[in-house]
Amino acid sequence: MVVHAVHWFRKGLRLHDNPALQEALAGADTARCVYVLDPWFAGAAKVGVNRWRFLLESLEDLDASLRKLNSRLFVVQGQPADVFPRLFKEWNVTRLTFEYDSEPYGKDRDGAIIKMAQEFGVETIVRHSHTLYNPDRVLEMNGGNPPLTFKRFQALVNRLELPKKPLPTVTAEQLAGCRTQLADDHDERYSVPSLEELGFKNPGKGASVWKGGETEALERLGKHLDRKAWVANFERPRIKAHSLFASATGLSPYLCFGCLSCRVFYHHLRELYLKLRRRSSPPPSLFGQLLWREFFYTAATNNPNFDRMEGNPICVQIPWDHNPEALAKWAEGRTGFPWIDAIMTQLRQEGWVHHLARHAVACFLTRGDLWISWEEGVKVFEELLLDADWSVNAGSWMWLSCSSFFQQFFHCYCPVGFGRRIDPNGDYIRRYVPQLKDYPDRYVYEPWNAPEAVQRASGCVVGVDYPKPMINHAESTRLNIERMKQVYQQLSHYRGLSESLHVSIPDFVSLSTEGGDTPDSSRPARLTPVQRLQ
Ligand code: FAD
Ligand code: MG
Repeated sequence: MVVHAVHWFRKGLRLHDNPALQEALAGADTARCVYVLDPWFAGAAKVGVNRWRFLLESLEDLDASLRKLNSRLFVVQGQPADVFPRLFKEWNVTRLTFEYDSEPYGKDRDGAIIKMAQEFGVETIVRHSHTLYNPDRVLEMNGGNPPLTFKRFQALVNRLELPKKPLPTVTAEQLAGCRTQLADDHDERYSVPSLEELGFKNPGKGASVWKGGETEALERLGKHLDRKAWVANFERPRIKAHSLFASATGLSPYLCFGCLSCRVFYHHLRELYLKLRRRSSPPPSLFGQLLWREFFYTAATNNPNFDRMEGNPICVQIPWDHNPEALAKWAEGRTGFPWIDAIMTQLRQEGWVHHLARHAVACFLTRGDLWISWEEGVKVFEELLLDADWSVNAGSWMWLSCSSFFQQFFHCYCPVGFGRRIDPNGDYIRRYVPQLKDYPDRYVYEPWNAPEAVQRASGCVVGVDYPKPMINHAESTRLNIERMKQVYQQLSHYRGLSESLHVSIPDFVSLSTEGGDTPDSSRPARLTPVQRLQ
């Protein structure tokens, strides 16, 4: 039988460690690599220009790599459910392959496509490679429930065999066996569109620090591992001022789009550790960050309401305020707190901010200061983050807002003191809130406290050139902690809830009212929520 294969790229934008792509090529007479520009992702309002740029760069890179192997990428615009019947007929497709998507939206979409393929007599082959472990398998081991503590999750995955070894990169020889005749009008019909063609007016150049694609991802992996080797003890380095800026070793957008395989990352880390330490087995903490990603993927896989409060069985219902004006100030970096505004500005301009910076703005929006629902934060991050990942984003927001994955301690971050301890000179603020660039160190985190003469001399008068703080932090944080206590007190009245969720309800005595200025927060690396999230 003649085999005409199509590999459908969605995430997993790479030629290395791509098991579904390997299946497409095995024994096929022709093979085409397809990307469908899905309007769900394109729903322009949901996804900002930086993430679009990253995606298009990743597709350009795939196309360039395929050209080197005498093939091309076919970018087809439309909805998968409309596109595939047409392609099945036009290309006489007999085999469709793609990477397993564990997220509820993806499962629904793929279920419909598999059914449709069956009707056309097309065989579908689906392979796992976006996560280290199969989330369904972990759920099964936990009696069908998502593990809601990281400890529990670790205990479960420790019982599993090591993540599979990555597969080699696709080769020219493999593709030679299933070469596809490319039409003369390939470029007109199937090339990667530009941002302008997708309707972005004046999209600008974007931050050159984040260039999409597998080629860049693999270069970064090398640098990331060099740095890890240099750090040698494999501890997460303590945060310093320069950690706040984008770096050439950051990997999250690449893992999110699958330009880098998480299994490649995992096994490289493991080998590096074994080489340097000569121990028989690396501690699970070596993979801590990667495992947090797995944790949220697992928690989300069977929960279509994971990104909202209503109908979400793992989320505490908190009576958040509805305050669109305050939300807009936060989202646009106009809170009047330079540390918060710098983070939101970097996020909007570049699409990435440091993990602790995410903590700071998430806490500020929700339980710390503004008492606005984490769901609003999810939406803004989804639009702006290059690494916006449905499961990880919503999971982290629930965590930070004390809405799920119950923490033992509620620690609020101070929007002045927290940043100052990381970056006492305020270089970060000076870069992203340039109105304040000439402020003395002493006032750069709290310009409203600078004497008027200092404000004038620094060329930025608060209330004129830069907003006044939108809220009294000390007061609001105290009130919010009271509100949170009440929510949790009510919750603890529901007997048996903690058992059914496999969690323990937090101990209120440990609530901090110090707004992030407690002695232990003078070392951000030791803050409770940070420790638990890393
Ligand atoms: P590294 O520190 O080098 O870690 C390596 C990889 O591990 C990352 O690329 C990422 O894939 C994974 N990882 C690291 N930390 C975490 C974590 N705490 N939870 C889950 N995975 C982690 N990360 C996302 O990938 N997508 C998101 O949408 C996302 N949303 C977040 C929202 C909030 C409110 C918070 C507090 C955190 C969020 N994170 C998210 C987690 C984390 O902040 C980023 O993964 C990290 O900052 C990426 O930087 P890096 O590439 O230097 O990662
Ligand atoms: Mg990093």
